[in-house]
Amino acid sequence: MTRRQAVAIQLNNVRKVHGEDTRAVTALDGVSMDFERGSFTAIMGPSGSGKSTLLHCAAGLDRPTSGSVTLAGSDIAALGEKARTELRRRHVGFVFQAINLVGSLTAAQNVELPARFAGRRVPAHEVTAALAEVGLEDRAAHRPAEMSGGQQQRVALARALITGPDVLFADEPTGALDTRASKDVLSLMRSLVDDQHQTTVMVTHDPLAASYADRAIFLKDGRIVDSLEIERGRPENAAVIAARMTGLEK
Ligand code: ADP
Ligand code: MG
Repeated sequence: MTRRQAVAIQLNNVRKVHGEDTRAVTALDGVSMDFERGSFTAIMGPSGSGKSTLLHCAAGLDRPTSGSVTLAGSDIAALGEKARTELRRRHVGFVFQAINLVGSLTAAQNVELPARFAGRRVPAHEVTAALAEVGLEDRAAHRPAEMSGGQQQRVALARALITGPDVLFADEPTGALDTRASKDVLSLMRSLVDDQHQTTVMVTHDPLAASYADRAIFLKDGRIVDSLEIERGRPENAAVIAARMTGLEK
């Protein structure tokens, strides 16, 4: 595989300034990094360190002030709003802390929604397969209020994955879940990486959540200040990650 094919997203010297003049805040201050295909990266750092901004810029939800973000052969930073939306619909999937399923729709209808926005009708068997992938084939006709938080987040994962995105982005995906449900969602994300080689980028401030990833990147004041390769299956990983986080907060 060539280098180019091996990288799903490449950030080159990305800066992002929110607001203007005296109220300008530099949220990202020259971030460069590659996300390899099939890798699972955790973005960590204290509150306000730029994690969400990094995710939003990498995913094309937001536009860097300068620098480039290469995804699927395009520089997202150079695209206009419309082209950026199109690229996002085709190539990226999202899950957020606020699960935001449509309350009046069933699980199956929620899962088909993004494909419909992209102008595609999804055959029923694909929706069933996507729900089966997240272990919820028997909940297809249920509405969000009839499901637990963990089940809702798994529906959101099925919805994010139905378009076959190059990259799955998750911003604090377990932030609203209890320990048990968090474990289910994280194990599911891990198996999507292992079994489907789903490139995944997850923002979290939780070391236990980050321990499911292959690599943790640490941000502080909009810069990458540390990174850690995570060896699978070591129970002490979360403690090692937590110690790095504590170091940053000093
Ligand atoms: P994190 O996700 O790590 O908590 P954010 O990326 O949300 O950090 O924010 C980084 C910095 O940018 C913070 O100082 C935050 O207050 C600021 N910021 C984020 N979004 C905006 C915005 N839309 N307008 C102004 N400032 C913002
Ligand atoms: Mg955030």
